[in-house]
Amino acid sequence: MINSLSANNRTSAVKAKYKEFSDKYIVPVRKRHDEEGSFPHELMAAAWESGLFNGPVPTVYGGRGLTWTECAAASEELGAGCAGIGITIDTHSLACMPILLAAEEQQKKILFKRIIEKRLIGAFCLTEPDAGSDIANLKSTAVSSGSGFILNGRKRFITNGEISGFHLVFAKTEPTEGTRGISMFFVPSDAPGIKIISRMDKMGQRAAVQNEIEYHDVNIPIEYLVGKRGEGFKTAMNTFNRTRILIAALALGNARAAWDYAADWARHRIQFGKPVTANQGISFKLAEMRTEIEASRLLIQNAAFAIDHNTENQALFSSMAKYYATDKAMRITEDAIQVMGGEGYSKEHPVEKMMRDAKLCQIYEGTNEIQKVIISKNISG
Ligand SMILES: Cc1cc2nc3c(=O)[nH]c(=O)nc-3n(C[C@H](O)[C@H](O)[C@H](O)COP(=O)(O)OP(=O)(O)OC[C@H]3O[C@@H](n4cnc5c(N)ncnc54)[C@H](O)[C@@H]3O)c2cc1C
Repeated sequence: MINSLSANNRTSAVKAKYKEFSDKYIVPVRKRHDEEGSFPHELMAAAWESGLFNGPVPTVYGGRGLTWTECAAASEELGAGCAGIGITIDTHSLACMPILLAAEEQQKKILFKRIIEKRLIGAFCLTEPDAGSDIANLKSTAVSSGSGFILNGRKRFITNGEISGFHLVFAKTEPTEGTRGISMFFVPSDAPGIKIISRMDKMGQRAAVQNEIEYHDVNIPIEYLVGKRGEGFKTAMNTFNRTRILIAALALGNARAAWDYAADWARHRIQFGKPVTANQGISFKLAEMRTEIEASRLLIQNAAFAIDHNTENQALFSSMAKYYATDKAMRITEDAIQVMGGEGYSKEHPVEKMMRDAKLCQIYEGTNEIQKVIISKNISG
């Protein structure tokens, strides 16, 4: 039904669909999963069943065929429900993108048939102990063997690692060639030689899982080399130009939910015989927060438009949206606590969780310092 609607109506329909799921299924369980640090397996099965996964995957491969404007609207609603739950779905999109961007047509058909039919959630395996911002410093290797490659290495902070059905792994096929020596591989999670070393215990987004993973002599058939040898770095950058929009939108949704909650609370909190919103100290804060929420959304829509219409400055706009929206989300969620005083700090309300969840968006998929490096490069030409 969504396919037959005009662009604006389509975006509204996508937004409404994700909001409905978020309000009905995510919001009621987010506190429990945050407290327990537990992964919501049943919820994810329901999300797949409801068509919330595979947003950017074209319908011809069995996906939802959403534009990036629609994907951003979807991610905002996931973030408004729970960024920790939403990131699992967004990370699956992250793992699918290199296949969409770099694989041959036939390879796309084969891999997505497998992903969709078997409902395989993806993990994007790039970061290593010695290669975070500095991706060129990857130590993992994929050495040619007669029938394909042998993968060895260690990956760190891998979202969805232990619950995934496939890993999209970056490794050096030409170790001396820096960024041009990086290739990508589709690796089924049950391939012999893959070991989950540990699960990260962390501050926020606690419903999501992150793992350190070891690959020891993992056999990879030649047909699981995604795209061409040496194209991994370029494809990772093209992927991030798109998926950073999802992180920005996830942060925006989280910030919006914190604002809604704090503003509603402040309207009803009476001190000195009047609502606390009657003080400019509070109402100005809420006014600034609300303005920054709208500004974030416009930057996100600007970046999504550039991708959807293949216009110039895709990397620039995407980095601007990611840095601005996630930095503002951090401040907005912190101010939401301040607006609520002691109540905001209490776990009886969701805003302290929202502040903890906001922090991570400034770090993953390239820290905000790295976003400013990208923006600066555009300025200096
Ligand atoms: C919870 C979580 C989930 C994650 N999920 C994934 C995932 O699914 N897949 C994956 O591959 N990775 C994932 N990551 C890794 C994430 O992308 C990296 O943590 C991030 O890119 C930063 O790398 P780093 O932590 O090694 O920091 P470092 O690169 O060590 O940076 C440390 C500090 O130095 C700054 N810095 C570094 N270089 C520069 C520079 N040139 N200019 C200015 N400042 C600089 C950084 O901004 C940062 O503040 C995840 C991380 C976390 C914490």
